[in-house]
Amino acid sequence: MIPKIEYFSPVNLTELLKLLDRHQQAAKIIAGGTDIIAGFHQGSARFKGIKYLIDLNWIDELKKVELSSDGIVIGSAASFSEILKNELINHHFPLLSTAASRVGSVQIRNRATIGGNFVNNAPCADSVPALLVYDAEIRIRSVEAERAVSLADFLLKPYQTQLRSDEVVTQIRLPFLSENYLGDFYKLGRRRGVAISRITLAVLMKLVESKIDDIRIASGAVTPIGKRFVSLEQFARGKTVSDHLYRELARMLGNEILDATGLRWSSAYKLPVVQQTFYQQLQHIYQTGNLR
Ligand SMILES: Cc1cc2nc3c(=O)[nH]c(=O)nc-3n(C[C@H](O)[C@H](O)[C@H](O)COP(=O)(O)OP(=O)(O)OC[C@H]3O[C@@H](n4cnc5c(N)ncnc54)[C@H](O)[C@@H]3O)c2cc1C
Repeated sequence: MIPKIEYFSPVNLTELLKLLDRHQQAAKIIAGGTDIIAGFHQGSARFKGIKYLIDLNWIDELKKVELSSDGIVIGSAASFSEILKNELINHHFPLLSTAASRVGSVQIRNRATIGGNFVNNAPCADSVPALLVYDAEIRIRSVEAERAVSLADFLLKPYQTQLRSDEVVTQIRLPFLSENYLGDFYKLGRRRGVAISRITLAVLMKLVESKIDDIRIASGAVTPIGKRFVSLEQFARGKTVSDHLYRELARMLGNEILDATGLRWSSAYKLPVVQQTFYQQLQHIYQTGNLR
C-alpha cells in the first residue's frame, strides 16, 4: 500500500531546492515515478519513511535538451520519449537514442526520465552503459552549491549514488566526440519488448589505419552496476584490429566481468553470451562502419 505522503509541485529550481533543504531525508524527488511508485507498492526499504514527494515535472528547465559550446546538455527530467525524438541526440549520441528506444514500453518511455534511471541505479538501467561510453558528466545542485561529477564516480553500488538528500541532479552533459567514432549498443532481455535487461553492452571505437586509436566499453545488468572496462580499453588501444584481437578482447571481457561479479549460478550461461555478443559487436562495428 502507498503510505500517506504530502505532495509538492515546485515551478522553479529555487523552490525545489528550498523544499529539499527543509525536508532532507523525509523527502524524495519524484520525476516519472516509474521506479518510486513501484517501490512504494512493493514496500521497498529504500522508500520507507518518506513523508514528502517533490515533483520535478513542473520545472521546464529540467526538461530541456540544448547545445553547449562543447557538447549537449540534457535536463535530468527529460523523458526517454523526449530523448528519442531529439535530433541533436540522435545525430551526435545515437547509442543513447538506441538505449532509450529499448526502455520498457511507449507508456513507460513517456514517463520515465533519464535522471531517474541513473539516480535509481538499478544494475539493469539501460541508459547507463551508453552514458558511460560518452563520458557523461552530471550537474548537481543544492541550496548552497552546484557540483559537477562524472557519472562513473556518481554511481556507487546497486541502488546507491553520491546524491545527498538535499540535492537534485539538474543536467547531464555529453561532450562531442571527435570524428570517426564507430559504435554499437546491445541489449539482451528475456523478450524483445518491456523486458528488464539481462545483458547490455555499449562500445565506441575509433580506428586510425586499422589500429584502435580509442575504444570505450561499458556494460550493464551483467555487472553489479553499469561499469567501464578501463584496463581492457588500455590493453586494446594501439593494437591492429584482427579476428584474433577481437577473440582475445572478448575472452578478457569475460574475465573482467567474472572478477566484478564473482561466480554466480547464471555465469555459465551469461559469460559465453556476453563474450560472443561483444565479439560480434566488434566485428559488426568494423564491417558496417557505423558512425557514432
Ligand atoms: C513496466 C516497467 C518497465 C521498465 N523497463 C525498463 C527498461 O527496460 N529499462 C530500464 O532501464 N528501466 C526500466 N524501467 C525502470 C524505470 O522506468 C527507469 O529506471 C526510469 O528511468 C526511472 O525514471 P523515473 O523518472 O520514473 O524515476 P522516479 O521513479 O521518479 O525516481 C527514481 C529515483 O530517482 C530519484 N530521482 C529522479 N529524478 C531525480 C533527479 N533529477 N535528481 C535527483 N533524484 C532524482 C527519485 O527520488 C527516486 O529515488 C521499467 C519500469 C517499469 C515500471
